[in-house]
Amino acid sequence: MYKSLLVLSTVACGVWGQAPDRAAGALGFSVQNIDTTADPCTDFYQYACGSWLKNNPIPSDQSSWGRFDQLQERNREVLRQILETASRPDAGRDADTRLIGDYYAACMDEKAVEAAGLKPLEEELGQIRGLRSKAQLAALVAGLQRAGVEAMFDFTSGQDFKDSTQVIAQIDQGGLGLPDRDYYLKQDAASAELRRKYVEHVARMFVLAGQTAAEAKASAATVMKIESALAQGSDDIVARRDPAKIYHKMSTREMEALGPRFSWTDYLRGSGAPVFASVNVASPGFLKALDGALRRFSLAEWKTYLTWHLVHSAAPLLPRAFVAENFDYFGKTLTGATELRPRWKRCADFTDEELGEALGKKFVERTFGAEGKARTLKMVDALEKALGQDLEKLPWMTAETRKQALVKLQAIANKIGYPDHWRDYSSITIRRDDLVGDTERADAFEFQRQLNKIGKPVDRQEWGMTPPTVNAYYDSSMNDINFPAGILQPPFFDNAMDDAVNFGGIGAVIGHELTHGFDDEGRQFDGQGNLRDWWTPADAKEFESRAACISAEYSKFEVAPGAMVNGRLTLGENTADNGGVRLAFMALMKSMEGKPQPGKIDGFTPQQRFFLAWGQAWCENVRPEMSRMLAQTDGHSPSRDRVNGVLGNMPEFRAAFACRVGQPMVHAPACRVW
Ligand SMILES: [Zn+2]
Repeated sequence: MYKSLLVLSTVACGVWGQAPDRAAGALGFSVQNIDTTADPCTDFYQYACGSWLKNNPIPSDQSSWGRFDQLQERNREVLRQILETASRPDAGRDADTRLIGDYYAACMDEKAVEAAGLKPLEEELGQIRGLRSKAQLAALVAGLQRAGVEAMFDFTSGQDFKDSTQVIAQIDQGGLGLPDRDYYLKQDAASAELRRKYVEHVARMFVLAGQTAAEAKASAATVMKIESALAQGSDDIVARRDPAKIYHKMSTREMEALGPRFSWTDYLRGSGAPVFASVNVASPGFLKALDGALRRFSLAEWKTYLTWHLVHSAAPLLPRAFVAENFDYFGKTLTGATELRPRWKRCADFTDEELGEALGKKFVERTFGAEGKARTLKMVDALEKALGQDLEKLPWMTAETRKQALVKLQAIANKIGYPDHWRDYSSITIRRDDLVGDTERADAFEFQRQLNKIGKPVDRQEWGMTPPTVNAYYDSSMNDINFPAGILQPPFFDNAMDDAVNFGGIGAVIGHELTHGFDDEGRQFDGQGNLRDWWTPADAKEFESRAACISAEYSKFEVAPGAMVNGRLTLGENTADNGGVRLAFMALMKSMEGKPQPGKIDGFTPQQRFFLAWGQAWCENVRPEMSRMLAQTDGHSPSRDRVNGVLGNMPEFRAAFACRVGQPMVHAPACRVW
């Protein structure tokens, strides 16, 4: 359940913008990106990125534009070539090529999508209309969830926090249309305005689905009422970072007692889950709130709620009017993009979401050789050694906890590039004329695949990200670090660059993921991935006071006028950034030991180039709407703070750029956990 990502993953949200074509040559590390008029000791981010920021305005179909987006854009170009070839209906195509090619062809056939209108949803809309009692809701919700509709709550499987060898059923809060429960609860003017516009959007979608303006207005109000009730019963995003607060393993009978008005037997039968004895109810309070909502709202109101979620979920796949209206709220209003992305980009992303390993296999064949894997593993080895040395020397940790920490470090598994075993999608029927049906069948395959794991041992080979993804993660139950092929490229990793630049790029990313195993969340799991306290109380206290320094430090950074970084929400990521850069710097210094000091390149020492590489990995322009949304929902700090926050804490940075005490880039106190 806990995957700590390097950056917020937006690929899963098909409505969010990506960028127009850019020259690949612009991707690498470059001193051309520097703003030479800025003082590195005043604002290092401005110094490292200033020129880049000026020369790379946000494209109209984007809500932000940074180095990750640039690289993702290049990967998407590769996917486009693969998909355009694969979509030609040649008889000689292998099974994977046929699957991704036909899905992409169905998605690109806009004419067929227009002609079909709402027909692909007719059966489900009819099922919702035909409900005769609230008792029938459960079986229907199971069917909708199987088809990818996020209604009422979330149901899937996951590793047991306290026995990581086993997979158990997981029920969690869900069923909202807005990004987080706080969107429903916050009373400030900006939040109220976003709610007002959301209700208008929901109403317009109901009109598109055939209701009169008056009916649609009433329907939208009903949706807001039910979602607000679910939001009130949801746990807040900061509390959910605490593993103990989302671990409530119980029998199915105990689960049923939390929500007796919902026919769980019908639901579980309809979901396709195997029979199971115990389940983790992540948020018991939410199930109680759902039960209250089932009592409070009428059958007619629930039908309206389910109709909304069905249409909302399918909107990106429906005719132009639905796509445009969906973009108008979730693209424009929430994130500030002004133009919808070209269709092929959306279709490439959908294919990646639905059939990611079939597409990823082809991506890897084209882009990632055995050499790339070997180089990355060498780097990982250097970073793990650095963390080992760091743990050995850490002044605040006692021998007992230190020993346990080293055991955990030794147990971390490294997954590089792509999975050893590819997922078999051959049971999914994909038709060239049925985009909605194809997507629902692919969603049902994934839903079932997750549920099939219940009661079985964990598959440690599995990946939680597809190979073309420009991101990375640490999984605390697996105790593994994962680097998809998509990120192992410039500007993060570049064969043409010196070690200093690669250690400041991918080296720090590797260090970041390793440190997640020891951040405020990850430290609560042991080397086997079990939630178990292996800290002496004294060491835990030392850790907490150091983490509190980071939390207080980042809480002082301003995201947008009046909106501050949430230091508690971003604590894990900030800890990982600080640890990651420090470890990568240690590893770079180690690699230079006993060798003649390398000369300057482009006028910069290796130390300076290391810090510039970290800075430039985060060059990014962000729209104010997007900044506000991220401040509320993203566990990562804004890019500027990810750079300046870390470097301001490092004496090594101060030495490299000869900064003086009292300058803004020399923080007091300088926080350090790892
Ligand atoms: Zn992270």
